[in-house]
Amino acid sequence: MSRTVKNYLDGEWVESGASDAFAVHDPATGELLANCPDSTREDVDAAVKSAKAAFDEWRSTPVLVRAQYMHHFKVMVEDNFEKVSQIVVREHGKTMDEARGEVRRGVESIDFAMSVPVLMRSDGLEDISSGIDETTVRQPAGVFAAITPFNFPFMVPLWFLPTAITCGNTFILKPSPQTPLATEYLFEMLDELDLPEGVVNLVNGGAPSATALMEHPDVTGVSFVGSSPVAKIIYETCTRNGKRVQAQGGAKNYIAVMPDADIEASVKNILGAAYGCAGQRCLAAAVAVGVGDAYDQLKDELAKQVAALKVGYGLDETTQMGTVISDAAVNRIESMIGQSEGEGAEVVVDGRDFQVDGYENGSWVGPTLIADVQRNTVMATEEVFGPVLSLMQADDFEDAVDIINQSRYGNAASIFTSNGKHAREFKYSVNAGNIGVNIGVAAPSASFPFGGQKDSFFGDLHGQGMDSIEFYTERKIVIERWV
Ligand code: NAD
Repeated sequence: MSRTVKNYLDGEWVESGASDAFAVHDPATGELLANCPDSTREDVDAAVKSAKAAFDEWRSTPVLVRAQYMHHFKVMVEDNFEKVSQIVVREHGKTMDEARGEVRRGVESIDFAMSVPVLMRSDGLEDISSGIDETTVRQPAGVFAAITPFNFPFMVPLWFLPTAITCGNTFILKPSPQTPLATEYLFEMLDELDLPEGVVNLVNGGAPSATALMEHPDVTGVSFVGSSPVAKIIYETCTRNGKRVQAQGGAKNYIAVMPDADIEASVKNILGAAYGCAGQRCLAAAVAVGVGDAYDQLKDELAKQVAALKVGYGLDETTQMGTVISDAAVNRIESMIGQSEGEGAEVVVDGRDFQVDGYENGSWVGPTLIADVQRNTVMATEEVFGPVLSLMQADDFEDAVDIINQSRYGNAASIFTSNGKHAREFKYSVNAGNIGVNIGVAAPSASFPFGGQKDSFFGDLHGQGMDSIEFYTERKIVIERWV
């Protein structure tokens, strides 16, 4: 009998009242790690009640004291760095180095939250009229919730929780039911921090608990990260219920490779960008667009290197690529490869029916390379979220930009070039929120907002950076005259 993960509210671990649960497997071994309850509306009510009750005291706790908690929290995560990374590997299937990278990025978001005492400051002006002073203050806005995806189970919650609470809000996290264990450990550390009860709360579950949070009258706003169809539902449900919302969605990220690029360096970067985390990154390179002669060079070089990637269990430090999240994901990805083949593309390296010795129950898809992908076909338009890189050919720079801008997604796009004019034109004209120049994964650091345009983002204020301070605070304008 495996254990069932608990919720955390009012400073206590409590059992959900749910009758249904999701099985959480190690996707490499198939071992059942735990069950994740599909929490009910009553569970959500209890968490919101806890967060609401904690708000008044927490908002009046000096911001420097709130930031001090983040200093302690950071030390705790650093002390448990390897343990957290291992938990991420076991429930997600990525490699240890990828998990360490994720935890490092999470720590950077805690670092950012330590700056809240500076970032929350506002402005003012004396004698805006004779004897009248006018100032702006930022105040915490209430109870915030975050609904997060499976692919970065530790990092994505940290994009939101530290800044939200250091701004003086109280918080409820609903992580992905596919990967609840890294967040369980996150909350074990938060529990040890001795924050006032109710400041942070955890509700495990799927869509019903997410919906209950969005419909709850005492929730002020929702941060979401996940697929685009769900991001759209989240945006619509939150706005219908009068809540502020930031909903980061899925992606189809293109990399243009110009004939003047250093092909060897580009291929090295593209390999990491396409196959890192087995392609389960919203910033994963999905399509490499070879411009002119670069196409054939890219195809030859990638074909050699992709087939040589070492696929295996993430806890084995020599592994270069791990599993995908589940057998359902394997089926989805393999069927998309089949569809692409049916559309006339060439499967140069085929990762279907992939096996790793000793891990027969794992959810494996081998690294896959598909060439001759045409516009408007499945590999040019749909997010695969697996280790599949497509190759498209463009006649020239303008053709490459046109291919990229046809996408309904706009999360990230990169160019590899040694020509400053092309780099400048690319930054200027490509409709994507995160642009890389000679960088495969254009991931903004915590003090910059995480870009995203078109179907990759629904909302106004993005996650991270100054946008997050705006999102998690309410501005009040004070106009004073003392006679
Ligand atoms: P998902 O959309 O299936 O689930 C995300 C979250 O939404 C989970 O917590 C899930 O329980 C919840 N959810 C699912 N259906 C819901 C519904 N109908 N109503 C309310 N809540 C619902 O995404 P996933 O498979 O966990 O994650 C992968 C996706 O996330 C990919 O599309 C990836 O590109 C995207 N992603 C985006 C970013 C970004 O910053 N833009 C970052 C990471 C991942």
